[in-house]
Amino acid sequence: MAVTDILNKKNLTRQDIIALLRAEGDDLKLLFDRARQIREQNFGRRVYYRAIIEFSNICRKDCLYCGIRRSNKHLVRYDLDDELILRAARFAFDNGIYSLVLQSGERTDRAFAQRIAHLVRKIKQMSGGKIGITLSVGEQDFQVYKYWYEAGAHRYLLRIEVSDPRLYPLYHPWDDLHKYDRRLECLYYLKDIGYQVGTGVMIGLPLQTLGNLADDLLFFKRFDIDMLGMGPYIEHNHTPLYSYRHLLIPLRKRLILTMKMNAILRILMPDINIAATTALQAIDQMGREKALDIACNVIMPNITPDHRQDYLLYEGKPCTDEGGDACVQCLNKRLEIYRLKPIMQDWGDSPHYFKRTSTPVR
Ligand code: SF4
Repeated sequence: MAVTDILNKKNLTRQDIIALLRAEGDDLKLLFDRARQIREQNFGRRVYYRAIIEFSNICRKDCLYCGIRRSNKHLVRYDLDDELILRAARFAFDNGIYSLVLQSGERTDRAFAQRIAHLVRKIKQMSGGKIGITLSVGEQDFQVYKYWYEAGAHRYLLRIEVSDPRLYPLYHPWDDLHKYDRRLECLYYLKDIGYQVGTGVMIGLPLQTLGNLADDLLFFKRFDIDMLGMGPYIEHNHTPLYSYRHLLIPLRKRLILTMKMNAILRILMPDINIAATTALQAIDQMGREKALDIACNVIMPNITPDHRQDYLLYEGKPCTDEGGDACVQCLNKRLEIYRLKPIMQDWGDSPHYFKRTSTPVR
C-alpha cells in the first residue's frame, strides 16, 4: 500500500507501521509532514521545558546497555547534597521553568524513599506550589510511589526500554532484579495511583527489528501512555552490549529511525507529550530541534549543578560541560531557529492525561 493511503487510514496496523518505518525520500517527507500537521493542531509551535537534575548515578541495577550500571567501575559515583539540588530547583524557578525532573539510578532503601519525599516537599514549598515535579528513579513498591505522589510529585518516567517480554532478557541480566513483569507492574502502579505516566524505548539496539519497533509503538497505544521519550541507542564502551556493536546500524540511520518513530507515534497518539531526547543531539547537533519541529513538544534542559560528566548513560552525551544557565540560554536560541516557542511558567502537562482520566485541565 502507498504511504499516502496508509496515512489516510484511521487505524494503523503493525504492517502499516513497518511500511512507514521503511519510508524514504518523498514518502518520508509525507510522513514527517503529517506528523508536523498533527503536532501543530494539538500544540501549535509550543515547546515545554522540563529542567532535569540528575542527582545521583548510584544504581543497584546492571542493565547491559547502561553506562552507569552497577558493575561499571570506570566512573566516579556521586550523590548530590540536598542543598545543591534545591539550589538547582531554585535556579529553574527563577528562570521561569516551572517543571522539574528529579532523576537518578535506582535505589529502594527506606532512606532514599524518605529523602525523595523530603525533596519534593521542599521544592513545592520553595516555589509556593508552582513547580510541577516529575520523578524518574526506577522501580519501586506501590506504597513508595503513593508516598511520593502524596508528597506532591505528579508525573513519573519509567522507560520500559524494550516492550517485548521475549526481548527483554537480551538486554538485561537474567536475575530477579531485572524482570520485565516487574517493570510493567510498576507502570500499572503509577497509573493506578494517578500519576501522569511516561515511558520509552531505545531505538537501534543490536538484533532489534522494524517489527519490534512497530510492536513498541502499539504497546504505547495499548497502554494508553501520557508521555514518551525515545532515543537512539548509543553504545557505551564499558557495558557488555558494546561487544555486539558490529550488529548495529550506523548512528545516522538510528537517528532517522528515531525521527520516524516519533512521527508515527504523534500520528497514533496526537495529544501525548513526546520528549526530544538528549541522545538525538549526541548524533546530530540540531537533532532535538529537528525532532521538535516534526513531532515532539517537550525538551529537557539539564541543570544538574555538578558531576554531569559522570551521568553518562551512553557515549558522547552532549552538554556535559556547561552550567544550567548556559544550557537554557543555548536552548532558547536553538528553538528560535525552528520558530518554536518555549512555554515558560507552565507545568506543560500532557493533555492526553486529562482526557484519559476525565479530570479537568489544571
Ligand atoms: S538503565 Fe537505569 S536501572 Fe538500568 S543500570 Fe542504568 S540507571 Fe540503573
